[in-house]
Amino acid sequence: MAKIEQVAVVGGTHGNEFSGIYLLKKWQKRPELLARNGLSVDTVFANTKAHEENKRYIDCDLNRQFIARDLADETLTNYEQSRAKVINAQLGPKGDAKSDFIIDLHNTTSNMGPTLILLQSDLFNRQLGAYVLAKMPEAVIVFEDQVSLDEHYFLASIANQGVIVEIGPQPQSVIRQDVLDHMENMTQHILDFVVLFNEQKVEDLPESYTAYRYIESLKLPEDEAGERIGMVHKNVQDQDFTPIVKGDPIFTLFDGGEICYEGDYEAYPHFINEAAYYDNNLAMSLAKKITVSSQ
Ligand SMILES: [Zn+2]
Repeated sequence: MAKIEQVAVVGGTHGNEFSGIYLLKKWQKRPELLARNGLSVDTVFANTKAHEENKRYIDCDLNRQFIARDLADETLTNYEQSRAKVINAQLGPKGDAKSDFIIDLHNTTSNMGPTLILLQSDLFNRQLGAYVLAKMPEAVIVFEDQVSLDEHYFLASIANQGVIVEIGPQPQSVIRQDVLDHMENMTQHILDFVVLFNEQKVEDLPESYTAYRYIESLKLPEDEAGERIGMVHKNVQDQDFTPIVKGDPIFTLFDGGEICYEGDYEAYPHFINEAAYYDNNLAMSLAKKITVSSQ
């Protein structure tokens, strides 16, 4: 892999996720905090208009607009679709990007703690996960490598390497110090790792570590008319990354009934009851626990 030189740290991709936005303001005043040997680090405020309106987005979710064919589709012209094309021109273009590495900063209302989402499982990403975990034992590493970078719709997929820093629990449009501190620390560790990787000085990593791989998303229960008829079960609420097995209750219906998990694998729910996912009636994501080699 070629050396990483151009790095973009992106905040405010969702306008009501405040940690990244306020960290960007801090770093823009004190760029030395992001400065690293051999790296040129830029900061990008992705959706200022949504932030001004204190919303996740104006027309549609910006962090779902970066599939290569959508970026090339001139008929997609609403606010976020247009904004995606501007950001792609600035940091990309996807497939031949000026940026070598993107760190996209997000908050979740779910009780996920400091989570690092990796989009690929090559040596760089596997070792990055190991390094962050060594520096932040409370961190969780999630691989969302179920599709190729080309097919990923996340902003971080513009560059050949990109990661999502996803920290919770934090309500929308709120700043919590514990969450902000985790985000700042994780970002610093990621940048430190990039320098070590460039200089081929990554050492003392464990041979392997425990992480999670995204499998599927579950919807909140609906009736035939599409009306919501239940909620996340209280046993599952806030229990991100606590496993569930077939027969465990996961939803409580408003009429008092329960719906149990039917899957045939031990699932690790996360993004449980994420506020932003109500738009799509999503209840949670499910992952499998995996062992990842650092070699
Ligand atoms: Zn977000």
